[in-house]
Amino acid sequence: MTAKTLSIIIPVYNEAEGLPHLLDRLNSIADRISAEFALDVGYIFIDDGSSDDSFALLNAHDFGTRSVRLLQFSRNFGKEAALSAGIDAADSTDAAVLMDADLQHPPELILDFVRVWLTTGVDSVYAYKASRRSSEGLMKAAFARLFFWTINRDLRYEIPPGAGDFRLINRRFMTALRSLPESDRFMKGLYGWVGFRQSGLPLDPPPRTSGRSSFNPLRLLTMTLDAFTSFTTTPLRLMALAGIAIAVLSIGYGIYVVIQHFFFPGVPTGIASVLALISFFGGMQMIFLGLLGEYVGKAVLEAKKRPPYILAEDISRKGEPGADRG
Ligand code: UDP
Ligand code: MG
Repeated sequence: MTAKTLSIIIPVYNEAEGLPHLLDRLNSIADRISAEFALDVGYIFIDDGSSDDSFALLNAHDFGTRSVRLLQFSRNFGKEAALSAGIDAADSTDAAVLMDADLQHPPELILDFVRVWLTTGVDSVYAYKASRRSSEGLMKAAFARLFFWTINRDLRYEIPPGAGDFRLINRRFMTALRSLPESDRFMKGLYGWVGFRQSGLPLDPPPRTSGRSSFNPLRLLTMTLDAFTSFTTTPLRLMALAGIAIAVLSIGYGIYVVIQHFFFPGVPTGIASVLALISFFGGMQMIFLGLLGEYVGKAVLEAKKRPPYILAEDISRKGEPGADRG
């Protein structure tokens, strides 16, 4: 019987500064996993079009006997695409772990992932933020909360609040993810969508060790809209409900105006209230149209059926027993 295999999938975007430290930590964790669970541990790195020398650094690194796959995108396609590429590449392993390169996903937790996976037989073990740090920024925390609240209105499956990409997924979970045809892949939603048995472990994410997050508030807003348009039509329904509410209110207002006309003739009515109403409804309509446009735009983009990413390089280094370990 051959040992079970585990691939650690890491998307890398301009992380050169922190990579040496990451590779160090990974190496010792991989050794511990191999020793404790008799797993064959390999790595899959996806360079998401970095403009620094992340890829060269990875390529020059001595991984010893571990098998390593190095993918490089032709440009920056985003983390979701990078994770998808990693999962596509992990087609022969028993399980994969998805983790960030900035050590905000402490590699030590992988030991717990593997333990839960092997002892309980669940299909995915994910880390969730037990508490959102204040250092994370109010903005980000508020977005996250609004996001999970809205998206979970509509669904027959759950996207656990605070669950991120840091997780272990087994073979059939990966097969399911690979079978999804959309090119715009919001992974945090897809994990929930595919179903299976999943279990969560609490995590208090440490701050980045170096560099800075590439997700600013504008990007988070865009991602939130993206997630909505791929996973729920609740916003469209809310638009319709708002329309109904406004219609009812204006009927009420109409009745009020008629009553005023007959019972209190000669009371002057102001132009200001008319202007306020016009601009209010103008604004509402723009918001609704814009939102509708988001959904239509998403449909147009998906209809093109473009691949989620393009590879520039695909380097495989098979771990050879007896090869020098650095
Ligand atoms: N990342 C990526 N492509 C991008 C942006 C980020 O592959 O366009 C990677 C990045 O290298 C890191 C992970 O995704 O490994 C998380 O990125 P980041 O730390 O910037 O996000 P945050 O922790 O703020 O959510
Ligand atoms: Mg990070």
